[in-house]
Amino acid sequence: MIIRPKVRGFVCVTAHPTGCAVNVQEQIDYVNTQATIEGGPKNVLILGASTGYGLSSRIAAAFGCGANTLGVFFERPSERGRTASPGWYNSVAFEKQAKAAGLYASSINGDAFSNDIKVQAIDRIKADMGKIDLVIYSLAAPRRADPETGEVYRSTLKPIGSNYSNKYLDTDKKTIQMAELEAATDEDIRNTVKVMGGEDWELWIQALKNADLLADGCKTVAYDYIGPKITWPIYKEGTIGRAKLDLRRAKKAINQTLNSIDGAAHIAVNKAVVTQASSAIPGVNLYITILFKIMKERGGHEGCTEQMSRLFRDRLYNGSEVPVDELGLIRMDDWEMGEAIQSAVGDIWPRIETDTVDEMTDFVGYQQEFLRLFGFGVDGVDYEAEVEPEVE
Ligand code: NAD
Repeated sequence: MIIRPKVRGFVCVTAHPTGCAVNVQEQIDYVNTQATIEGGPKNVLILGASTGYGLSSRIAAAFGCGANTLGVFFERPSERGRTASPGWYNSVAFEKQAKAAGLYASSINGDAFSNDIKVQAIDRIKADMGKIDLVIYSLAAPRRADPETGEVYRSTLKPIGSNYSNKYLDTDKKTIQMAELEAATDEDIRNTVKVMGGEDWELWIQALKNADLLADGCKTVAYDYIGPKITWPIYKEGTIGRAKLDLRRAKKAINQTLNSIDGAAHIAVNKAVVTQASSAIPGVNLYITILFKIMKERGGHEGCTEQMSRLFRDRLYNGSEVPVDELGLIRMDDWEMGEAIQSAVGDIWPRIETDTVDEMTDFVGYQQEFLRLFGFGVDGVDYEAEVEPEVE
């Protein structure tokens, strides 16, 4: 079949297998141009391994460190003529390339929040890998069923304390609109923490430790975002920010669990990038389009691969202490949050209107990256060619 993008708001409901495979290959090529990371991990478990930061972490581990990887994700295979989700195609492409490079690579498609998937992962690790020396926690999910009670919790993106209105970019119409968001209830906050907070990260580490599958000196990393003040009402100080604060609580608890094996839990604050998760946050997409314009002009622009390659090389496996800020966080957003960059963004933000979107933002670059997430607009791919949507 010939596959075209079908964009519905902030998602594209189709994905192109060849385009996704080329995206993965380009990430691998980038990591291969970097020097091999000495002392890197050998057996890595990546939770949320199929897209965004998790996929790039998997590529950095495998191709930057020569690691065996087990990836866990929740993706849709192709069915009845519908294309698979991009994370499915990405993972097929990743496994093929990793195996061709002589690396063990295996994947589990299912709900990482469930006990069943934890048991499956533990069985697979026992059978194929031995002990794990790095666990990446990169899930971004809209809902979570509590593994004990079965109760389903939904995360929300809401401000806390009062209603909030701010500019956002309607990417379909290329217009600046005002988003009106109602303040979260206490229940919204609790639910978001339940889904995107640290509880499930703790459960994974505890389960792996109980099964004696964590190597001495094992590291685990979860991802966070802080961003500039203009996004704080919806991000850092909103429901999602509360969930991210809960990661810090979980980090402490996990550090205690890992104490006896000299392991360490970290939180890496990553840069804003275009992913399926970030494109759903009102206002954050407008900030990203401005940020990209400035960072591309001034240098230092990075995508997921560059960020994760730098995280592994300069932070986690730099041959000495992992550098952290005064709150104990690894700051991969250091370039994004640089004073000059933020002051340039802050200068544009109040002036941006519909008729200045092209001039003041990297709208074109944002749209290209968004479509690329689904395998479209990738150089060298013939989109007029027939392609088989079902790939195993
Ligand atoms: P993403 O949407 O690209 O990836 C999410 C991953 O989670 C996918 O692999 C998906 O399959 C998996 N997943 C979702 N629900 C699952 C479930 N129930 N079971 C198993 N797997 C499941 O997201 P992303 O933007 O890469 O975000 C990953 C992490 O990075 C999040 O913690 C996010 O807050 C953080 N982060 C993102 C940005 C950004 O700008 N995108 C910036 C900083 C930090």
